[in-house]
Amino acid sequence: MSISRKVAMVTGAAAGLGKAITERFAKAGMACVIADLDLAKASDVAAQIQQQYAVETLALAMDVSDPIAVAQGFASIQEKMGRLDILVNNAGIQIIAPIVDFDFAAWQKMLAIHLSGSFLTTQEAMRMMKQQATGGSLLYIGSVHSYEASLEKSAYVAAKHGLMGLMRAAAKEGAPFHIKSNLVAPGFVRTALVEKQIPEQARALNITEAEVVQRVMLGHTLDGQFTTLEEVADTCLFLACFEGLALTGQSLPVTHGWHMQ
Ligand code: NAD
Repeated sequence: MSISRKVAMVTGAAAGLGKAITERFAKAGMACVIADLDLAKASDVAAQIQQQYAVETLALAMDVSDPIAVAQGFASIQEKMGRLDILVNNAGIQIIAPIVDFDFAAWQKMLAIHLSGSFLTTQEAMRMMKQQATGGSLLYIGSVHSYEASLEKSAYVAAKHGLMGLMRAAAKEGAPFHIKSNLVAPGFVRTALVEKQIPEQARALNITEAEVVQRVMLGHTLDGQFTTLEEVADTCLFLACFEGLALTGQSLPVTHGWHMQ
C-alpha cells in the first residue's frame, strides 16, 4: 500500500517525540491519529499538521493505561478513519528515585503507562489489523534503557526492558498476519521529560546540572551530542514503512553510540 493511503496512530503525540514522529509521518503523506492525555494540545497538533501537510488527522483524548479509554479511542479510529496501518507506542512519563525510596504507587503508574498501556493499544491495533488483512506495523518507543540501567530509574528501566519482550511477542504473533513489530531506542532527547530530569538528577546525585548533562546524559555517547527529535522520527518512518517481514522483532538504538548491538 502506498504511504499516502496509510493511517498511523501515535500515543503521547501532543508533545515531544510523539509530536515529532507524527509530523514526520504526515510529511510523508500519512493520515495521523494524535492520541494523548491532553486533548486540547492534541487538537492543536492535529489542526497544525492538517494545515501544514494537507493530510487527514484525528485528535483523541486517551489515557493509554485506561482500558476503557483505549477501547473507545480505537472505536473512534474505526469509525472516523476506517483503518489503521501503523501504531507507535510512545506515551510515557519519568519518575526517578532510588529503589529503597521508590513509592509503590509511582512504580505501578510507570508500568501502567509504559508497559500495560502499550499492551492495551497493541491488542486493539492487532485486532484491527488482523480484520483488515492488509498487514501493519507496530512500533515501540523504548530507550537506551531498554538495554542499559541507570541509577534511580528502576521503574523506567524495568518498563523499557519489558517493552522489548512485548515487541518480540507481538512480532511472533503478528507475523502470520503480516504485522511487524519493532522497537526504537533513543538516547537522551531534549524534550520536557528530559528538561525536568536535569535539576532532579542534580539534586539526587549531588552534582551540578551541567554535570548531569555532560556525565549522566551524554557521557556514554561517542560524540557528546543529544539525540534529536528528527533522528528518532526518521528512524520510526524507516521501520514503520519497511516492506515485508525482513525487519520484525528488532530493536534499533538511536543513541549516538551509547549502546552498541
Ligand atoms: P514528553 O513529556 O515531551 O511527551 C510525552 C507525551 O505523552 C505528553 O504529550 C503527555 O501528555 C503524553 N502522555 C503522558 N502520559 C500519558 C498517558 N497515560 N496516556 C497518553 N498520553 C500520555 O516526553 P518525550 O520525551 O517526548 O517521551 C516520549 C517517549 O519517548 C516516552 O515513552 C519516553 O520514555 C521515550 N523516550 C524519551 C527519551 C528522551 O530523552 N526524551 C529518550 C528515550 C525514550
